[in-house]
Amino acid sequence: MLDVKRKSEQPASPNAPPLKDIKNFIAGEFVAARSGRSFDKSSPVTGALIARVAEAGEPEIDAAVQAARAALQGPWGRITPAERGDLLYAVANEINRRFDDFLQAEVADTGKPVSLARHLDIPRGAANFKVFADTIKNDATEFFEMSTPDGAGAINYAVRRPVGVVAVICPWNLPLLLMTWKVAPALACGNTVVVKPSEETPQTATLLGEVMNAVGVPKGVYNVVHGFGPGSAGEFLTRHPGVNAITFTGETKTGAAIMKAAADGARPVSLEMGGKNPAIVFADCDLDAAIEGTMRSCFANAGQVCLGTERVYVERPLFEKFVAALKQRAEKLKLGVPEEASTTMGPLISIEHRNKVLSYYRKAVDEGATVVTGGGVPSMPDGLSQGAWVEPTIWTGLADDAATVTEEIFGPCCHIAPFDREDDVVMRANASGYGLAAAIWTSNLTRAHRVSARIEAGIVWVNSWFLRDLRTPFGGMKQSGIGREGGVHSLEFYTELKNICIKL
Ligand code: NAD
Repeated sequence: MLDVKRKSEQPASPNAPPLKDIKNFIAGEFVAARSGRSFDKSSPVTGALIARVAEAGEPEIDAAVQAARAALQGPWGRITPAERGDLLYAVANEINRRFDDFLQAEVADTGKPVSLARHLDIPRGAANFKVFADTIKNDATEFFEMSTPDGAGAINYAVRRPVGVVAVICPWNLPLLLMTWKVAPALACGNTVVVKPSEETPQTATLLGEVMNAVGVPKGVYNVVHGFGPGSAGEFLTRHPGVNAITFTGETKTGAAIMKAAADGARPVSLEMGGKNPAIVFADCDLDAAIEGTMRSCFANAGQVCLGTERVYVERPLFEKFVAALKQRAEKLKLGVPEEASTTMGPLISIEHRNKVLSYYRKAVDEGATVVTGGGVPSMPDGLSQGAWVEPTIWTGLADDAATVTEEIFGPCCHIAPFDREDDVVMRANASGYGLAAAIWTSNLTRAHRVSARIEAGIVWVNSWFLRDLRTPFGGMKQSGIGREGGVHSLEFYTELKNICIKL
């Protein structure tokens, strides 16, 4: 439970809320670690300590996996898909009923503006449960009639069965949204889950445990274990032989480590990983729409969106105008506390992540970039100076092979380069080890189709960004991912499709 207790150590600010005590959620109970180990969670906004989180060790991971295995044999394993669907609708409704609790928890962990979390993170977190409850209800499988030598024939039909216990390893950038994007289809398909939220964002996954209990999801169906990756909860969970499948969102190098762990026991993985996404702006675009869309794709959530743009290519006749317009808009971003309605950009998730982003801000200069705007740490008012703030940053003038242009930074920044020919820009956009997302801005319909088809990315937006229909395939090409989720594609991962052949 999100036990709110006063501890002997108080957060830095005298007006700060009480320190939260966040526990693991195993078999329907909120439990501390047997070892007594915990770790600190600080506010990205102020740097103040906001929570103590119980760190799951191997005994807790084992207990969570055993609870999830046992739940597969209990009432959860026997209810109909329609009954499961009703429970998932109840989960969504209960999240919405406790909307403000989820909002407060998500904002406290991430520092993102309330306005963003209110219209994106929490509603989508709830919607995922309804979408996948409907997906499984409306899914049809195959049926084949075949002839046999005796003339009587045979029929074949396919049924979906749960995979078993699914480990769900989550990142910190859209904690509830990305966690439920995996948990909802896993549960809709009849699996049980053990979730390992990011160590940076432990709260909303834990709060979801309260929701599961409140609506009567059987104990052990949904479990949460807290901790880090290597040598901690993430590694213990992905190595656990009682886990049947692993679904992961996070950095590419972590995905590779998880794939190695999954090789023992030949367990399937679904990996949604990093990106270095291009936007291509043609001179015939609607300029206002392209500026507005690129602003969002570069700076929304302080640039901490896997689908966000970090490389912008602009057709030369529009280049100077586009750079000037994006600079002007970026300089209007209002950094501030999440609760302030005028705030349009929050801090990064942590000081550690800020160090990484700032190392690229320095590297860009070393590589010879022109800093169009930003490039450093903003001066923030008292009380916020210990937060993980960085300036929104735009560069020009770098070579295509500069580290700043090829490596994922995951901050509020982009490099803008001019281009002259369509073939050339397609080649440059594709010259990346990643292949997650791309945005194309043009009013030429034929070109929109032609270029989209040639871009190596799991999703290409034309004249928009982040427009998501949850029934569509989602995932990355190349080092951005393995597998597709969304709609029926999620069912492919979260079920075993079994053929039954009946001789007539
Ligand atoms: P991360 O890889 O550092 O951590 C993700 C999760 O993996 C965390 O819960 C972490 O504790 C855990 N982990 C780390 N090492 C592990 C190990 N060896 N074994 C098991 N678990 C381990 O990623 P992050 O910093 O939390 O998130 C940012 C990254 O996520 C960016 O690269 C971003 O592009 C990517 N991302 C991708 C998508 C997508 O849909 N493709 C969506 C969001 C974020």
